[in-house]
Amino acid sequence: IAKSEGGNQIQFYEARFQEEIHRKMEIERRLRKAIDREEFYLNYQPVFNGIDRTIKGVECLIRWQSPELGRVSPAEFIPIAEETGMIHAIGEWVMLEACRANKRWQDDGLMKIPVAVNLSTQQFNDGKIIERIENILKETGLDPKYLVVEITESMTMNKHHALMMLKNLKRLGVSIAIDDFGTGYSSLSYLSELPIDKLKVDQSFVKKMDTHGVNASIVHTIITMAENLKLEVIAEGVETEAEFGLLLRYGCNTMQGYLLGRPMEAAQIAEQLKLSKPTKKMRIQ
Ligand code: C2E
Ligand code: MG
Ligand code: MG
Ligand code: MG
Repeated sequence: IAKSEGGNQIQFYEARFQEEIHRKMEIERRLRKAIDREEFYLNYQPVFNGIDRTIKGVECLIRWQSPELGRVSPAEFIPIAEETGMIHAIGEWVMLEACRANKRWQDDGLMKIPVAVNLSTQQFNDGKIIERIENILKETGLDPKYLVVEITESMTMNKHHALMMLKNLKRLGVSIAIDDFGTGYSSLSYLSELPIDKLKVDQSFVKKMDTHGVNASIVHTIITMAENLKLEVIAEGVETEAEFGLLLRYGCNTMQGYLLGRPMEAAQIAEQLKLSKPTKKMRIQ
């Protein structure tokens, strides 16, 4: 009996494994045509000033609506796009679209805010990305100070490469943010040797800050140290008023999360920017 049960287990795992491979291959196949078929679109999640709860930036997040597969999460398809090299084309589309949208908001007289774009490892390892971003800024006419490039800690592990890439990005005039901070193995002292501007505290630490003392301590420490290093700190994944209150108490005034605003369509962001502080142009009218 034991033997046959073991056999069933193995068959079960094999079936699961087959399913996973099949799903991956299916995603890869559909992904190849997704740009041309215009199946991607962008959402923008507001970044807030926690003190007056006004919008002070947005992060753009890719969305994929496949006619065959339905909605597929970037957490699932971005790694596949990375493995297959498709991330270069997809990432370039995202960057162009995000810069275009931000420039359009500005041209419409809305409040000027930076848009943050996530860069993947493959993109960051590709030296040509600098020129691509430079071209996109030129093509869209977006002032580089309104673009933030988000990278993760693991991408900075090769210090020589990271320094070269980050210096070149800074030369373009864009800002650099370290995303998901705390989940990798880099220390703040290491990061302080790189030309970065912002630190985004990973949502896993922000989660349950009010009930998990360890989480609260970690977040508090990161905020304090980042301040000393003159880095702007952004707390990600703020979902409750309790977390929000603690963050403010610890001195973190910049926040992103479902409590304050979910990722939304460009038109909805435009509405929010209209309601926010009037720009000079609007005041004159
Ligand atoms: P990320 O850059 O850390 O983005 C934050 C993720 O957390 C987003 O998930 C966002 O929807 C989610 N989030 C925001 N606030 C909350 C909250 O309060 N609670 C919870 N539970 N989640 C929250 P999303 O859009 O599914 O993206 C997942 C990841 O996929 C991103 O993590 C990023 O690493 C990657 N990604 C998304 N868009 C792009 C892109 O255009 N290019 C690249 N290379 N990666 C992308
Ligand atoms: Mg991000
Ligand atoms: Mg993040
Ligand atoms: Mg993340």
